[in-house]
Amino acid sequence: MDIINVAVDGPAGAGKSTVSKRAAAYFGYIYVDTGALYRAVGLNALRLGINTRDAERVAETLKDVKVSLGFKNGEQRVFLFDEDVSDEIRTPAASMAASDVSAVPAVRDFLFSLQKDIAKKNNCIMDGRDIGTVVLPDAKVKIFLTASPEKRAERRVKELREKGRDDSYEDVLKDIIERDHNDSHRAVAPLKQADDAVLVDTSDIDFEGSVNTVINIIKEKTR
Ligand code: C5P
Repeated sequence: MDIINVAVDGPAGAGKSTVSKRAAAYFGYIYVDTGALYRAVGLNALRLGINTRDAERVAETLKDVKVSLGFKNGEQRVFLFDEDVSDEIRTPAASMAASDVSAVPAVRDFLFSLQKDIAKKNNCIMDGRDIGTVVLPDAKVKIFLTASPEKRAERRVKELREKGRDDSYEDVLKDIIERDHNDSHRAVAPLKQADDAVLVDTSDIDFEGSVNTVINIIKEKTR
């Protein structure tokens, strides 16, 4: 039986992970959050006290780092060396560090085969920024999931509140705009929609609507 790969790309906070997770559960595929890998590399650099914008120093950290993914009850966990850092990578500092290190070509090369290997062996929905364009250019289904920066900030604030955090809307919006800029203007693998990706703008669709839209696209493309 053919392995089915679904690539879901889009900017930060578009709902890629929550929507992909639900769609993956529906089809019985694994859900792979590739941002977690960049976050783990970023966290490692932060822990080493390195300026995450210093590409040369960041590239040097790759010589000794060990990053891997595990799947427990269908839930992805990310490991830095053998430590489960799945929660620690979610801080605003780790988000910015991830965005910085993801612009370093050596980091992208380093994480490329890890992502490829998982996709080769598993039916999966893989989300990121360059999955449909670079990592899995032959993916059976490609979706570009987006929403306006304001809507994305609104949703992220709500999510953070539910986790007991009180980050301001203004700070979150500023962070989203800055990361969008970084992600779409970098020289390597910038965030852009693959020519053959289906565009889904979730600005005016709620969560259930977004999940249904994505499930229907996958059904249609894999029929
Ligand atoms: O998706 P998430 O917000 O967790 O990603 C963290 C950072 O990692 C993003 O800002 C982006 O710069 C980077 N990233 C990437 N390529 C991917 C996934 C994430 O450059 N495939």
